[in-house]
Amino acid sequence: MPITPTDKIWMDGELVDWAKATTHILTHTLHYGTGAFEGIRAYPTDDGVAIFRLREHIERLLASSKILMVDVPFSVDELVDACIKVVAVNKLDDGCYLRPLVYLGYGEMGLNPLPCPVSVAIAAWPWGTYLGDEGVAKGVNMKISSWQRHDPNAVPTAAKGTGMYINSSLAKVEAIKAGYDEAILLNPQGHVSECTGENLFVVRGGRIITPPSSGAGALEGITQDTVATIAADLGYELSFENLVRTDLYVAEEAFLTGTAAEVVPIRAVDDRVVGDGTPGPITKAIQSTYFAAVRGQLEQYRHWLTYAS
Ligand code: PMP
Repeated sequence: MPITPTDKIWMDGELVDWAKATTHILTHTLHYGTGAFEGIRAYPTDDGVAIFRLREHIERLLASSKILMVDVPFSVDELVDACIKVVAVNKLDDGCYLRPLVYLGYGEMGLNPLPCPVSVAIAAWPWGTYLGDEGVAKGVNMKISSWQRHDPNAVPTAAKGTGMYINSSLAKVEAIKAGYDEAILLNPQGHVSECTGENLFVVRGGRIITPPSSGAGALEGITQDTVATIAADLGYELSFENLVRTDLYVAEEAFLTGTAAEVVPIRAVDDRVVGDGTPGPITKAIQSTYFAAVRGQLEQYRHWLTYAS
């Protein structure tokens, strides 16, 4: 997905011109993947542009950094304010995607990251649907990857660490080259973990089931948590349970969730069509409630919005 440049990027407390937001080639994180990041969306609402679940994203950024033993020199409040500033200064009133990044800078080389300077940057730009408008409307085709999700004792899957995404990239490339839209990764125990950048849900016997994030080696998705709340409010039964690949093949409905992807129906898994191949009623109800919630159209979910204009 191409990036549309905006005006300013926040770097360690300063607003820097987009084109000047660069770093040295010997930046530690570029070599060893020793950073943490977030993906956040802001949406237009009747009361101005609003960032969705901003504080939770920043808290996860600091939790990821803590897992990686990276001491971030900014507080949650400071980074929340910085995100608001980036959206406002770039006049992103129609909504945008925000990318906060914690990274280890120039100065030290070698595998001990502890002496490296820690920096934070926050960029934002307008971004359309991650899996395409048609995917959102009609569903996407998924492939179970031949790449396994990390064992949590090999790489901490609870952290959104930059280097860990080699695993997601490999799975994504494999799926695309094979003609699919997105990959599903199994964990070393053979249970369904998550997609390359999304959590996964199925409907079986009218019940919604999603893998138990950290227990299944998946990221604890903020959209997954949002959907769990919405599902309960809509009166659906939802549980966190392990799934195996055949649970996906015979599901009545399936969908994936992520900040970038939002809520996307799954049309088929490994060429087995899910349900009748069109988004099912539970998927559609959750998707439309999610889209209304992020746009501030539902009073009960407005506490998830941080206005930035
Ligand atoms: N799993 C992975 C591996 C991800 O990168 C993401 C995106 N952050 C998700 C799940 C979904 O998380 P969220 O809903 O918080 O965006």
